[in-house]
Amino acid sequence: MTILITNIKELLQVRDETILKVSGNQMKLLPSIKNAYLLIENDTIVDFGDMSDATGIIANQTIDAKGKLVLPTWCDSHTHIVYAGDRSQEFVDRINGLSYEDIANRGGGILNSAKTLQNTSEDDLYNQSVIRLKAVMKLGTGAIEIKSGYGLTTDAEIKMLRVIKRLKKDFPIKVKATFLGAHALPIAFKDNKQGYLDQIINDMLPQIAKENLAQYIDVFCEKGYFDLDDTAQILKAGQEYNLTPKIHVNQFNAFGGIALAVKHEAISVDHLEELNNEDIIALKDSNTMPVALPSCSYFLSIPYTPGRQLIDAGLPLALATDYNPGSTPSGNMNFVVSTACIKMKLTPEEAINAATINGAYAMGISNQYGSITKGKKANVIITKPVSSYNYLPYAFGDNHIDTVIINGEIV
Ligand SMILES: [Zn+2]
Repeated sequence: MTILITNIKELLQVRDETILKVSGNQMKLLPSIKNAYLLIENDTIVDFGDMSDATGIIANQTIDAKGKLVLPTWCDSHTHIVYAGDRSQEFVDRINGLSYEDIANRGGGILNSAKTLQNTSEDDLYNQSVIRLKAVMKLGTGAIEIKSGYGLTTDAEIKMLRVIKRLKKDFPIKVKATFLGAHALPIAFKDNKQGYLDQIINDMLPQIAKENLAQYIDVFCEKGYFDLDDTAQILKAGQEYNLTPKIHVNQFNAFGGIALAVKHEAISVDHLEELNNEDIIALKDSNTMPVALPSCSYFLSIPYTPGRQLIDAGLPLALATDYNPGSTPSGNMNFVVSTACIKMKLTPEEAINAATINGAYAMGISNQYGSITKGKKANVIITKPVSSYNYLPYAFGDNHIDTVIINGEIV
């Protein structure tokens, strides 16, 4: 099966296969070809170039993209889309004056989601999650990381990870799984945090490894949740099962979690709304990708990650949704890209780089995803006719997507 896309107004994010992430000033560049074609064979990008060189190419299906842009699908490296129910009541509580922490302290928040999930069957959880996965694919996401962390018991964490594994098998979208047992302290361990850490290390991790249910290990490293010592214990234990660290850190407080993650060779550090100089120094010369989640800042009215400062310091930056029932009930990467431009002062080039190649890097898949490169997976967005790529983040809230192709299949 071959698909030829012709008359592309501008083919964006055209990269050499050796580029796995872009940092600092390089993020201001978005290599492209105007008036281009793109050829897909089965699940792979096999050729592209100037339209004048497309004569004679025959394909099973031809898509005329006159006036339209083509770019790689979004790579959303941080989500919690497997969850049960929703927390719209807490949304109203926050409107009426309660803070995220107030709600957590009275048994709401993550513990509320965990209670609901524990009482939901695996099939029901799968069906609820499928609806969200299909929706984000339609919005142009072609690779996604999904975390556990709303189970908080061995059975419920395994249930979540099995659902993620089923999603990975049943859909063309690339799925990476992260074990986030240390998301919150369950009520049963309210006065025995070490007891819960022991359960994660001695009970959950061996089972997850046995069923090969996760590639990454995550911790909510935050005051009132898991401190530096707790985080180090979990990361070390995960690494013994070949799970790479990828952690929630610096959302509300900066206290050295980033340096700890870098020391444990984390593939990414996510949130970073609170950031100090030591954090930036720790990230320099590391292989760890900083990940900003602007939809979360928008929804919670907390500060935005200082992405400008990170990029100006020569660092890379990735953008992700944080799609979850509590702090970001939205998986729309188009909104994330707009919000990064509007609120974090990223240029459209920087935001698109952050949401494609760097997002892929934060999932360890940028050798196969995140750019228009021969040999990479055929994951592309064809936009509606637009004046330029600047228009995508500029006209926020509109859906600019005409067609999404994931793994060579039109979604
Ligand atoms: Zn998160």
